[in-house]
Amino acid sequence: MEPYRNKVIEKIYETTRSEREEILKEAGYNLFRIPARKVYIDLLTDSGTSAMSTNQWAGIMVGDESYAGSENFLHFEKTAREIFGFKTILPTHQGRAAEHLLFSTLVNPGDYVPNNSHFDTTRANIEHRGGTALDLVIDEGLDPTSRNPFKGNMDPQKLENFIKREGKEIIPIIMLTITNNSIGGQPVSLENVRTIRSISKKYGIPLFFDACRFAENAYFIKKREKGQGERSIREIVRDMFSYVDGCIFSAKKDALVNIGGLLGINEDSLAEKLKNLLILYEGFPTYGGLAGRDLEAIARGLEEVLDENYLAFRIGQVRELGERLIEGGVQVLQPIGGHAVYIDAKAFFPHIPQSQLPGQAVSVGLYLEGGIRTVEIGSVMFAKKDPETGEMTYPKLELVRLAIPRRVYSQIHINHVVDTVLKLYKKREEIRGYKIVSEAPVLRHFTAKFEPILTKRAPKAAQKQLQQV
Ligand SMILES: *Cc1c(COP(=O)(O)O)cnc(C)c1O
Repeated sequence: MEPYRNKVIEKIYETTRSEREEILKEAGYNLFRIPARKVYIDLLTDSGTSAMSTNQWAGIMVGDESYAGSENFLHFEKTAREIFGFKTILPTHQGRAAEHLLFSTLVNPGDYVPNNSHFDTTRANIEHRGGTALDLVIDEGLDPTSRNPFKGNMDPQKLENFIKREGKEIIPIIMLTITNNSIGGQPVSLENVRTIRSISKKYGIPLFFDACRFAENAYFIKKREKGQGERSIREIVRDMFSYVDGCIFSAKKDALVNIGGLLGINEDSLAEKLKNLLILYEGFPTYGGLAGRDLEAIARGLEEVLDENYLAFRIGQVRELGERLIEGGVQVLQPIGGHAVYIDAKAFFPHIPQSQLPGQAVSVGLYLEGGIRTVEIGSVMFAKKDPETGEMTYPKLELVRLAIPRRVYSQIHINHVVDTVLKLYKKREEIRGYKIVSEAPVLRHFTAKFEPILTKRAPKAAQKQLQQV
């Protein structure tokens, strides 16, 4: 059961199927181009979409908007210090701002930054500095049949081999992303953190967390790791963070707010450099691009996210969605991660080749059937054309992510999601693929336009369905 009840509500709008057909046509079958109001259940992302508590909203009302030394900053700093244990805490307007400051300070052209798996923005910020972002997740992390409970772990052997081969001089920092977002919200074990720490110590390279979903990761440790079951989430979090030199953090995830981020650092000279850059890019170090009221909401959210009843519901809601889809015959990434369920679109529509974008077909289908917005993580996002041969290379996995916002949707909303996915799955043979009709040179998934592919061989039912679309 939800360990909370509704006090403030937000109306959501239902559309009819024929309205959605029109909306899709107008948006070029790209769900990023649809007005949010026309979406019934929005599972596009879990980032910045959390519902705040009465306690957080009360905090918003006591915002101290002083330029320097705001009361809310002091509360934010004290809370983050207590939870994470870092000496210096710097606020930023979101996670990628923290990345920008950190990598501008540490990464030079030719450097390498190993991570279990980089998130898009950390990769982009490292590449922007002329560095290389290196993914060293364990092999099982990329194996859809593996049920490893800590699939997000970094492979210590791969890390040490790389350091030995290339030399520690070109590795300014090692990172661990908790949970490992890019491979499906998979957790990292405490044991893995300790092992990676011992390597970082041995070679004198600092270790940082990309800590966006630190509380969800701690909950998995409590439930899955030997000897951790009796400890509180707060204790596990303190333990995890005791092995790192700092962190970047997007408050849009596990601080249960809509905007914000932070940097945590132990080392004074690095903290000083970051502080100076922060003033240049974000704002004075006691607000860092945020309003005082935002800092207060983050401080309160960081406390609330450690509540084990909340985490049990949160992780349980995601797991239940995944398990019910599996029961219905739908293949999803397993084990089910912390913040999202990922449908395997190749298995969902085996008759649609990757060149005809099966993930896009699932995503569009879910909107058409039930007003649900999801995101394709497959060929639309990652397929690449070789500039010389013109040949396309397609990603290994063709996924559709159903990211669950925190504290937003009820179990009945989730039932509607399950029903919609199963409804689409039942009529899978009628569904056809899509082709891209216009696209931008980079990050095309945000703006591309698509058209359904009409094939002569499509059965009657499919022709009818496509005409409707
Ligand atoms: C969201 C996210 C970021 C970036 O944070 P923003 O607040 O969106 O800038 C970085 N790393 C991971 C793992 C994330 O999930």
